[in-house]
Amino acid sequence: MTSRLRWPAGALASLALLGAGYAARASTKAGNAEEAGKRWWAHVRYLADDRLQGRLTGTASYLEAATYVAERFKEYGLEPAGTSGYFQPVRFEVQRVVTAESSVALVRDGREEPLALGRDALLGSREPQPREVAAPLAFVGYALHLPEAGYDDLAGQDLRGKVVVYLNGGPRDLAGALKSHARAAQEFGKALERTGALGSIGIPNPKSMDIPWQRMALSASQPGMRIAESELQDTHGAMFTALFNPAAADKLFAGSGHTIAELLALADAGRPLPRFPLALALRARVATRVERVEAPNVVGLLAGGDARLKGEYVVLSAHLDHLGVGEPIHGDSIYNGAMDNASGVASLLEIARAMHAGGGRPRRSVLFLALCGEEKGLLGSRYFAGHPTVPQSALVADLNMDMFLPLYPLHYLTVEGLEESSLGDDARAVGAAAGVEVVPDRFPDRNLFIRSDQYNFIRKGIPALAFSFGAAPGSHEEQMKKDWLTNRYHAPSDDVNQPVDLAAAARFNQLLLALAERVAGDEARPEWKQTSFFRRFAQPGTAH
Ligand SMILES: [Zn+2]
Repeated sequence: MTSRLRWPAGALASLALLGAGYAARASTKAGNAEEAGKRWWAHVRYLADDRLQGRLTGTASYLEAATYVAERFKEYGLEPAGTSGYFQPVRFEVQRVVTAESSVALVRDGREEPLALGRDALLGSREPQPREVAAPLAFVGYALHLPEAGYDDLAGQDLRGKVVVYLNGGPRDLAGALKSHARAAQEFGKALERTGALGSIGIPNPKSMDIPWQRMALSASQPGMRIAESELQDTHGAMFTALFNPAAADKLFAGSGHTIAELLALADAGRPLPRFPLALALRARVATRVERVEAPNVVGLLAGGDARLKGEYVVLSAHLDHLGVGEPIHGDSIYNGAMDNASGVASLLEIARAMHAGGGRPRRSVLFLALCGEEKGLLGSRYFAGHPTVPQSALVADLNMDMFLPLYPLHYLTVEGLEESSLGDDARAVGAAAGVEVVPDRFPDRNLFIRSDQYNFIRKGIPALAFSFGAAPGSHEEQMKKDWLTNRYHAPSDDVNQPVDLAAAARFNQLLLALAERVAGDEARPEWKQTSFFRRFAQPGTAH
């Protein structure tokens, strides 16, 4: 395949310069990478073992995982930097939808057509659901509210008392990061509340679905969560939320003069979508059970070595939680989350260990953060960004590691947020030195920019990046990654019995270590690009 044959220019030059000595040195390095990869894998094995039951936020097994991380932080010389030793406890409200006691129907001319929950539609569990809703439906295109970009699907329509239906994605001429931002719960929930709508039904686009519908349906029994503190919640009343199976979506469009095929064709061509009333009303009853739980973020500090810059903090983050125990697939009900995201926490630990073993201290302080509640809506990071354990204005960057997928050698590194801040330039420089090509995300409609914890730092004005292994378009590696998402992502088979390239994982850790050291050691504080949309979140005096 082309990506395997493609040598970075720097690597060719050093081969030519170093001559015969290079091969011996390279093989030693490969041996080291293999060893380092095994150390990394030992953390993954511990955290993703069946014994840890999938580390669901709020469970005893999550707490055991958090204790493991705190013990390693201590062993690697990090100081406790939580509110209770290494821990920063967070309180959550948990909502479970009881499908057996719930019902959803479409009503036309007084006639009710019941929907099959699971097959046709899934009820959302994150926002508090109303016990009953009866409302007309309106299709609002992509439901993107981006007035500053001159695009607003919610404007100019009377949506009061209605439930809106939308298709995921957005017009091609809008930047991916912007579309993702408008899709984030914080933005979308607020925008929808302002219209007076009673709720929303999202239709995923099959072209950008990571998880097939059947597997999404299996996860419907899993609980939703939100932070118990009301200032950190997205909506303040009940809001009907559901997802509709794209394969069944013509049920929604009956009598409207439109079809899902027509709308998907427009979406796949990157075109704007029409907005129109639907010929149907929705009638739903939603039964839920609500409880409260608590779970900690884990925070460790490596104090900086420069008298002046040590008061500033570079955050390295990775979420520790996963989905716990759920519906069995092939007889396995433990959702171990080995790549999602024991892998990122293992990298966090290995980087801490390497910094400690290196003996020196970067000029800035480095904060190591293992987060709870990511799978439930980036909640641990939202709590930390809202209640940082160091002064918020002193947080200068976040480098987030979540499911970077070392399935094959590291030739390309995809970086979320690459064009938004000077951190992207740092990533490119560190990548070039390691012979790794740093590339932007080629699939922005997967919304990865807002799908992990870095986004909560961005919302507080702190430049941030997230990382995953890239692949050349059309390559075998690209197919491997797609297959992984289809078969293992959020499935019990994301466990320790899967093929992983340990040496490639170790190289990733090396690269992230180098990046963290570069950012922590640089005289200049990271800054947003003048052109970045997200610059607006920067606190006065920190944007430059
Ligand atoms: Zn996940």
